Amino acid sequence: MSSKPLGTKVKKTVVRWEIKRLLSQLADTRNQKEFYQKFDKILQGLYKFAGPNQAAMENVARAFQQRHPWSELSRILLQERLSKITRERLAENFFCDWVTEAKKRDKLEENHFKVPWFFVISPTVACNLHCYGCYAHEYSRGQGLSYQTLDRILREAKELGIRFLTISGGEPFYYKDRQTGRDIVDLFEEHQDMFFQVYTNGTLLDDKKIERLAKIGNVAPAISVEGFKKETDQRRGKGVWEKIEEARKKLYQAKIMQGFSITVTRQNAELVSSEEFIDYLISQHCSFGWYFIYIPIGKEPVVDLMPTPEQRTMLRKRVWKYRSEKPIFMGDFWNDGPWTGGCIAGGRKYFHINSQGDIEPCVFIHFAVDNIEKLWKEGKGLRDAITSPFFLSIREEQLNTNDNYLTPCTIIDKPEILRKVVKEYGAYPTHNGAETIIQGEIACFLDKYSKEMDKITRPDFERMIAGDFDSPIVKLSEVIKNHQEKNRREVEIQSKKDRIL
Ligand code: SF4
Repeated sequence: MSSKPLGTKVKKTVVRWEIKRLLSQLADTRNQKEFYQKFDKILQGLYKFAGPNQAAMENVARAFQQRHPWSELSRILLQERLSKITRERLAENFFCDWVTEAKKRDKLEENHFKVPWFFVISPTVACNLHCYGCYAHEYSRGQGLSYQTLDRILREAKELGIRFLTISGGEPFYYKDRQTGRDIVDLFEEHQDMFFQVYTNGTLLDDKKIERLAKIGNVAPAISVEGFKKETDQRRGKGVWEKIEEARKKLYQAKIMQGFSITVTRQNAELVSSEEFIDYLISQHCSFGWYFIYIPIGKEPVVDLMPTPEQRTMLRKRVWKYRSEKPIFMGDFWNDGPWTGGCIAGGRKYFHINSQGDIEPCVFIHFAVDNIEKLWKEGKGLRDAITSPFFLSIREEQLNTNDNYLTPCTIIDKPEILRKVVKEYGAYPTHNGAETIIQGEIACFLDKYSKEMDKITRPDFERMIAGDFDSPIVKLSEVIKNHQEKNRREVEIQSKKDRIL
C-alpha cells in the first residue's frame, strides 16, 4: 500500500475523532454563551477541510453569529435531544463525511459522474393502518423487497459515497422479510455506517423498537400527521393520535431525533401551516419536518384535494417565515426550488427505489426503465440507473428549460417534461393508474394548473434573483446564481460520453 492513501486515511480518522470530541464538548456545555463560543471555534477549525463547501460553511458561521433559530436548534439537539450514540452517528455519517469526502465527490465529477445526495427506498407498500384513500393495507407484510436485496442496495450506495437514506413505504416498521423474518431495524443495525430518516405512521414505535433504535442511534423517524387529533384520527383511524403522542414522548426520552411529515391538501393547508400547529410540533420535540402537497397520482386521484396555487404560495411564505423565527428545520418539497436549484429528481440529487425494485426518478413519478434486480442480473447496478438516458434526459430537460425555480416539479409544474421522457424512453408504469398523470383529464388539469402557478410565482422569483429576498445571513440571489451556474455545468458533465462507470 502506498503511503499516500494511508496518510489520507489517518488524516480522516483524526478529523472524525476531533469532530466527535468537539461535539461532545458542545453537548456538555450548559451555558448558551459557552456553547456558541465553542461552536464558532469548531467551524474555524473545519474551514481548511471545507474545500468546495467553504461558502456553505461561511453561511453556517454567520447564522451562528447572528443567532439564527437553527443555531438554537443545534444547541437544543446537542444538549437535550440527542444521545451520545445518535450524536456520534450523525457526526460520522452526515457531517464528517460531508467534510472529508468533498474531494472524492469532486474527483467523481471530474470523471463525469455526479453522485446524488441521497435516495429513498420503499421496502414494502404494506401497512398496519387502514387510512382513508390509501390501499396499502391490501398488501401483506411479506410482499416487497427481500432483506438480501435491501442489504445489497445499501452496500452499493456506500460504494458510491451515499451514507444518508430515506426509508418510506407502506409502513417501514411493518416490514418483515418473508424468508428470514428480519425486519427493518435489523437492516439499520447492520448498516450503522449510514444514517436513515424513516417516514412512519408512528403506531408501531413501541418500547422494544424504541429501545433497539436508541441502541444504534442511526435512525430519525418522521411521523406523519394530518393536522391535530381530529384531522389525524379522521383519516388514520381512532386512537392513532394518542399512539403518536406516546411514541413522540418515548422517542424524546430515548434521545432519538424525530420529525414530522405532512401531506398538505386543499382542506388542511390553512391548519397545517398555522403558527399554532408548528408551535405544537416544536413542543413535541420535533427537530425537523417535511411538507408534501397532495398531487393527483395513483389509482383514483382527486384533483380537488390538491392545494390551489394560492394555497401553495401561502405555504411557502409561511414556512420561509418560520424558518427565520423558529428552532426547527422544515423542508417544503415543492416550494424549495430556489434553495435546491430546481427539481432534484432523476438522480440530480435523489431518486426512489420502490417495493418491487423499480428505480423511479422521484417517489411521486411512477414510471421506470430500470429495476435493480434486473440490472444486477445484467452485471450492472445503481450507477447505471443514475446515468440511464431516461434519468439524464429528465435532468437535461429541467436544466435547460426551468427559468422559474418556484415551479420546479417535473410532474405538476412542467408536466410536458414527464410526458416527453416517458414516451421517448418507453418508461413503464410502476403503479396501477400511473398513466392518469400523463393523459386525459388529469393531464388537462395540470396544463392549466402549471400555467397558473408560473403566473403567480414568477414575479416573486424575479424579485429573488434581484436580491429582494436576501437576508443578512444568506443571500438567496447568490444561492440561485450558484445553482444556475452549477446546473449549466451539470448539463456539460452529463453530456460527456467518457463517463467512468
Ligand atoms: S418531480 Fe416534483 S416532487 Fe419529484 S423531486 Fe422534482 S419537484 Fe420534487
